[in-house]
Amino acid sequence: MDKIPSTDNHIHVDPINGEGPLEVALKFHRSGGTSMIIPNKPTWTVSPQCSFKEAMELVVGYVDEINQETEVQAFAVVGAHPAELSRRVDAGMELAQAEELMRGALETAQNMVLEGQAVGIGEIGRPHYPVSEEEMETHNRIMVYAMELAREADCPVQLHTETSSEEQFKEFAEMARKAHLKKEKVIKHFSGPLVLPEENHGLTPSLIASGDVMREALKKGKSFLMETDYLDDKTRPGAVMGPRTVPRRTRKLINAGLLTEEDAYQIHVERPGKLYNIEIDF
Ligand SMILES: [Zn+2]
Repeated sequence: MDKIPSTDNHIHVDPINGEGPLEVALKFHRSGGTSMIIPNKPTWTVSPQCSFKEAMELVVGYVDEINQETEVQAFAVVGAHPAELSRRVDAGMELAQAEELMRGALETAQNMVLEGQAVGIGEIGRPHYPVSEEEMETHNRIMVYAMELAREADCPVQLHTETSSEEQFKEFAEMARKAHLKKEKVIKHFSGPLVLPEENHGLTPSLIASGDVMREALKKGKSFLMETDYLDDKTRPGAVMGPRTVPRRTRKLINAGLLTEEDAYQIHVERPGKLYNIEIDF
């Protein structure tokens, strides 16, 4: 294998607040990146009037642009971030009405998957900040609903949640069971090194591609995806890892003898290909 694959499982592109799809994809490509899984950004990062559907259609457009203009293969993941609900409730909307809006947004997302414009539903989930018990119950119901929609569309969900340990993974696995969604189709975005089945309860961890997380994970196994959660937001430059991180980290780990080229193929081509039902050319 003279070329090494690299898939960033959660990377944003944002021409409004950041550099945009082509700049990010070219940086990724020059560092050896091959595929990007790109979730839409929340509506409020686009404009105060932006609808859920518009936010999702934007990311589909960015993905098309990358696929046409660069050698990177890009795929869209569409959904409604949990903070969309919180922001509406904080602005005075009834919780029940906000829940209906979220459900409608997730149905739009499912439609886009069914039409082949997107490959998964996300990011969906629950807040990483404290909310009322009533609001948290609403988020949990919405999560199960998103998983039901994913099961119908035979696609995965990408979860955005509070920092999660074995206990939360167990809870999410129980939600997947309720929704009859295969547990591996629940991808925990921004995951720590919870690689053992007894730690992740069968969910797919998408690991933050930091040296520490990767080294800790590789002591235990290789069943994971890798991501940066790059925001492409100039006002938050240091908030996350840059777009070059996944390809660079993958090469470093191979050079250090911690990962083989076959492992890289499993992590960056085989596993995401199966999860998202996509053909990753490599
Ligand atoms: Zn994200």
